[in-house]
Amino acid sequence: MRLIAIPLPPNLPVRWTKIHTKRVAALGAMTTQKQRSSYLKKHGSWGRLKKWLSNASGYKCWYCEAKSTRASFDVDHFRPKLGVTVNGVLLEGHAGYYWLAYEWSNFRLACQRCNRPENSETDNLHGKANEFPIQDEAHRCKSSAGLLASELPKLLDPCLQADCALLADGIDGEVKPAASIGTWEFERAKYTIERLGFNEWNTPESKRSAWQTLALLIAAVGMNTNQDVIDELKKYLSNDHEYSSFYRSAIGTHRDKAWVEALL
Ligand SMILES: [Zn+2]
Repeated sequence: MRLIAIPLPPNLPVRWTKIHTKRVAALGAMTTQKQRSSYLKKHGSWGRLKKWLSNASGYKCWYCEAKSTRASFDVDHFRPKLGVTVNGVLLEGHAGYYWLAYEWSNFRLACQRCNRPENSETDNLHGKANEFPIQDEAHRCKSSAGLLASELPKLLDPCLQADCALLADGIDGEVKPAASIGTWEFERAKYTIERLGFNEWNTPESKRSAWQTLALLIAAVGMNTNQDVIDELKKYLSNDHEYSSFYRSAIGTHRDKAWVEALL
């Protein structure tokens, strides 16, 4: 997970401000969950920001860094817009963070693996869906008057550097918690890795396979420098390269070579 800096470049699509104002006003006038649900299902205007959100990450999923070339991205609402579940159980008395439904600061570009639920017969195995646990339910915001900063979400947020730092990339291609076991930070990382399935669907294997080729190139060059190899490694280190966090970590194991150190 690499930091997606917010505020994003202030080049929101031209019509967005107008659409946002209209949608927020309409939603604000509604008093029942049924009305809101029906309205939000009909007016998924956040899809218009998909390209804008994609540009911020070089067309990578903000959570897992996959490029998702054969499936379109989703615009995930970090705080779910129509009801919240914790461990698959709908929170009673919470209508979702509907007042954030059209706020771009609540949008996260997500691949379908990260965003959509993958269910077995008895359980939701992976996928964020409407899951949004926080550290202490007593601090849960139920309306726009609540203080979001007091919530302490369990899911790591790619828009926060401190959250990105809680994940480490192993040379085996697996994403692991960076904090010590037994800490809240460890629990958050573990939860995010498992819920979003970072180490599922052969993802570690595909990272390892690409890394083997790079490792051979680095070994062939040794302590010397070779511009072609440097250029190749730079592509993998670039923010917009798929899984660049992993490659940065893997290439970092060759810091003993001055030319590698200079790249990082
Ligand atoms: Zn993803």
